[in-house]
Amino acid sequence: MSATPRQQEKPHLLAPPLHKVRGVGPRIAEKLAKMGLSDVESVLYSLPLRYEDRRQICKIAHLREQNIQVFAGKILAAGESRTARGKKLYEVVISDGTGQLSLKWFHYRRPWMEQRFTIGRQAVFIGELRRFGAIREVHHPEVHFLAAGQSLADLAKADPLSFGCILPVYSLTEGLHQKTARKIWREVVERYASQAVSPLPAAIVQKYDLLPLSEALQQVHWPNSKTSLQQLEAGTDPARRSLVFDEFFFLELGLALRRQGVDIEEGIAFRVEHRFTAPLAKMLPYRLTDAQRRVLGEIKQDMMAPRPMNRLLQGDVGSGKTIVALMTALIAIENGTQVAVVAPTEILAEQHFLQFHPWLEELGLTATFLSGSTPASQKKEILKQISEGAVDMVVGTHAVLQEGVKFHKLGLGIIDEQHRFGVRQRAALRKKGAQPDLLVMTATPIPRSLALTVYGDLALSVIDELPPGRTPIKTRVLVGNQRQKAYRHIRSEVEKGRQAYIVYPLVEETEKSDLAAASEGFDYLRSEIFRDFSVGLMHGRLKPEEKEQLMRAFKAGDIQVLVATTVIEVGIDVPNASVMMIEHAERFGLAQLHQLRGRVGRGAAASVCILMRSERCTEEGRQRLAVMEQSSDGFRIAEADLEIRGPGEFLGTRQSGLPDFRVANLLRDGRILEEARQEAFALVSEPGFMDNPRYADLLHELKKRWGGRLELASLG
Ligand code: ADP
Ligand code: MG
Repeated sequence: MSATPRQQEKPHLLAPPLHKVRGVGPRIAEKLAKMGLSDVESVLYSLPLRYEDRRQICKIAHLREQNIQVFAGKILAAGESRTARGKKLYEVVISDGTGQLSLKWFHYRRPWMEQRFTIGRQAVFIGELRRFGAIREVHHPEVHFLAAGQSLADLAKADPLSFGCILPVYSLTEGLHQKTARKIWREVVERYASQAVSPLPAAIVQKYDLLPLSEALQQVHWPNSKTSLQQLEAGTDPARRSLVFDEFFFLELGLALRRQGVDIEEGIAFRVEHRFTAPLAKMLPYRLTDAQRRVLGEIKQDMMAPRPMNRLLQGDVGSGKTIVALMTALIAIENGTQVAVVAPTEILAEQHFLQFHPWLEELGLTATFLSGSTPASQKKEILKQISEGAVDMVVGTHAVLQEGVKFHKLGLGIIDEQHRFGVRQRAALRKKGAQPDLLVMTATPIPRSLALTVYGDLALSVIDELPPGRTPIKTRVLVGNQRQKAYRHIRSEVEKGRQAYIVYPLVEETEKSDLAAASEGFDYLRSEIFRDFSVGLMHGRLKPEEKEQLMRAFKAGDIQVLVATTVIEVGIDVPNASVMMIEHAERFGLAQLHQLRGRVGRGAAASVCILMRSERCTEEGRQRLAVMEQSSDGFRIAEADLEIRGPGEFLGTRQSGLPDFRVANLLRDGRILEEARQEAFALVSEPGFMDNPRYADLLHELKKRWGGRLELASLG
């Protein structure tokens, strides 16, 4: 596949621009372009939003609410009247023998209506039934008058784009009508869908009962009349399922190859000697949980293998990832290699350093800290120690990844909070050594379906159990005017010797920064509410020394109430803190709230999280906060967040590496994703896969679909 790219380029059958399509003039082309549709392929893959069942005429007595249906009837009465509020309307009453129905227009031209809606005339209508108490009516239905003696079959024949079939409904921009769109889509599907071919191996097509790509595309736009409407509505009909499989398969094939690109490289085969890990286990004031043990076992297996480890360690807030990371680090150090620990923020990196450092010291090992704000004078000495192998562990921010940092022998990289980094950072860390092992930690509980795509080339370990002795956190949502209640609770906790966090969010108004909100709150709390307590203010713009000082003071109990911006989101560990109050909670994502909330409930004391929401909070916002009240399971919360916000927003960044799917829906199609993944990985592991001529088309298609997006190293 590394040959000159041009020689094997096949013509792209679905590339024709849309103005070549019959019925698409410049005006419509412009509208389509607004929807991001510029060529035949983009139209083919712009699937119906839903479907309308126009196969049969429904009896008036059987009409259901909230459904576009077709019905017919004879006009019994027609004329203008007024609503209770005096607004004019035109009403037509029809009957089909099973019942009567009132049709209403609120925008109309009277002469036009009067000319057409004459008593005794037969017509077919399309519309949605509404019910107001006992009254059933349809507003602004579509009308097709029947000529004398004309039947529905005749009508269907005369207008096959409107009747006798299941009709697609597209999501459109303003000024483009369904009827016009249907004509264009129909034209595109009829002329081009047959040219779409997917080189999925026949065995897979058979095994999962998939439709050939061309047929799937035809069927998804124009389902044949035997298709189950229920399946169509749920998006589980064979056509859509086949398209989803196809889409996932090529994604997973790319990921499988990327993973293999790493697998076939030589890595370090570590030996597990327990020289440092066993003494550490003895020093710990607790026993590892079963989940921690299991995950450590998985990591050890990986480290002993002669290829680089590429593993994601996932665990809910407070599940004890840090100690697992430390054990992993010790295995690398036992083998005479160095370890780099990289965190996304200065404060989190410091926290890690403070957690690791004492244990390492106890074991006679050395660690150093490096960040962007390390003074140049110190930095020089630190870089020297790293390159000479005088330190066993370097903890820091992305500064560790910079060019000037040379390791003597880097054996393991640990990256915390991966979703703020990316593939590139992983690669940069890997280049600091000769194929070092890599452990990526995340406390954002990512639903499995997402993890498979975002971290598709990483193996996954999950700590799915919290250490014992935790009292669950009680979460309450309070409205603005109940703030005093929240303060009273904080006061009573602090008086019992506990500590509290009060968190302020990012503020939307530009003139006010999150810092301003927090420092205003700080001034007020310190001078009015908690005058007799010691109150601290923590925010991102403090100098590292100041932050550290604050953190130490809070940890030591010298600060009782810590007012903060979201900088405390990750990593801070003060078991004595038992209350967290979050202002404007509705502005946060659920995953972030869960992270924040995880700062309390880390000790044995019963902890409370108070979410303050404004009275103007939307219904959706209320629903989201209710999830927080009901669940403390990070995975459950993540699913809910994903459902409400969608995958892109969920990860908070477009650069998260999450592909935009054309057809698939991660929530609905999780199972298909797993199947596609399994098949793709199995295929790639076939000996000689890359050189097998049978798969040349497959690889060609893969390249075409992904371009450079997945950085497919092995595809050249
Ligand atoms: P996170 O996964 O959020 O990084 P930490 O590693 O910070 O969690 O652990 C949270 C707290 O739980 C820490 O105070 C840590 O000392 C403690 N801890 C970790 N493992 C155990 C265990 N097996 N038993 C009891 N406490 C533990
Ligand atoms: Mg942690």
